[in-house]
Amino acid sequence: MSHHVDVAIIGGGIIGCSIAYYLAKAGLTVGLVERDNLAQGTTQAAGGMLGAHSEYINDGFYAFARESQTLYKTFQQEIGIDIGYTTGGILQFAYTEEELLAGARWNDATYLTSEEFHNQLPHIASPARGAYLFTEDVHVHPQKTALAFCQAAQQLGATVSTGIYIDDIKATGEGYQVAHLLAKHVVIAGGSASTELIPGLQMSAVKGQCMQLDARDRQLPYTLCHQGRYVIPRPDGTLVIGATMEPDVLDVDTTTSGNVALHDIAERFIPGLSQFPVLKRWAGLRPKTVDELPYIGRVPGQENMHVAAGHFRNGILLAPATACLIRDLIVGQTVPTERLEAFNPKRGIFHEENHRVERQFV
Ligand SMILES: Cc1cc2nc3c(=O)[nH]c(=O)nc-3n(C[C@H](O)[C@H](O)[C@H](O)COP(=O)(O)OP(=O)(O)OC[C@H]3O[C@@H](n4cnc5c(N)ncnc54)[C@H](O)[C@@H]3O)c2cc1C
Repeated sequence: MSHHVDVAIIGGGIIGCSIAYYLAKAGLTVGLVERDNLAQGTTQAAGGMLGAHSEYINDGFYAFARESQTLYKTFQQEIGIDIGYTTGGILQFAYTEEELLAGARWNDATYLTSEEFHNQLPHIASPARGAYLFTEDVHVHPQKTALAFCQAAQQLGATVSTGIYIDDIKATGEGYQVAHLLAKHVVIAGGSASTELIPGLQMSAVKGQCMQLDARDRQLPYTLCHQGRYVIPRPDGTLVIGATMEPDVLDVDTTTSGNVALHDIAERFIPGLSQFPVLKRWAGLRPKTVDELPYIGRVPGQENMHVAAGHFRNGILLAPATACLIRDLIVGQTVPTERLEAFNPKRGIFHEENHRVERQFV
């Protein structure tokens, strides 16, 4: 028997779970279906940085990311569930003149010269041109956060079904049939697998490997970051080292070369760090779109069907803002045209006349 809901969400990663929460909070009835268990896809592989500054793509991305950071602040205060929300911020290293100038554009950053850096953090290799501290770029525990969104959504009445693979979304007179759900609206939040449900949607994978070290006597007040490589201090005192960037590799195995690369990253930030015991190693596939911005919006040619996928390096950062954008589209709230265009899934749909990019599939 069908269960009637306003919105069916496909995918129980951080994006689907946050959408469930913000829709339920807006008073909509929601059903989420996940083929596996919750938060087991790319979400479980993430570092959890909310790097609005360190991951800057363009001003539209930045504004969206900053909104998301604010939503996280409120969420973690309201929710009463531990999401590993850790303040301190990101310390962005500058080795070159170019990196120094890039950091100087931010008036909300604190600049430390190489000497000041050394005085504050003597056990860390001081970058030649100093570093910028972005205190708003905090981090969260990705899996705990996704599960917290889901739990909060369920407390607001959302239903969650795991172990259900959706291979077809059937349009009915009343809306869409998604497994046992009969929904007015559908949101596809299947990460990289969203391409299976949206013909022609382009996404490629960039594999990333990480490791976690037991380095409890190397306490860090900040996440250290340089050109997408980082050391994140977790609240339990362990350090997460990341991450490799391996385009078009489709497995999630950890490899010897990945291990070497991660030890090299660790050593470059903190001499001697690579000697500490490895607690865990893992890998995940970042879902990359044609321009590294996510697809958030209506699926071209489909009424009441939306997609929220392809968040590449920033799905944790952008989850709450993504969810609120999807909510606004569903309830008919006005959304600025520039934002709609920037994230419009249409730009990722392959067709013969679209020669902007090569066709790639995960
Ligand atoms: C090494 C690494 C480090 C990262 N670090 C960061 C970071 O520090 N900060 C940051 O913001 N981001 C980071 N990311 C990126 C982030 O992890 C992703 O952008 C984000 O997890 C994507 O979430 P998602 O919910 O879209 O996808 P997923 O987590 O993959 O979830 C999608 C879910 O949909 C389900 N699904 C798919 N198709 C179907 C179907 N047909 N039926 C039912 N269920 C389906 C899947 O099983 C899966 O559970 C990192 C990624 C990697 C790999």
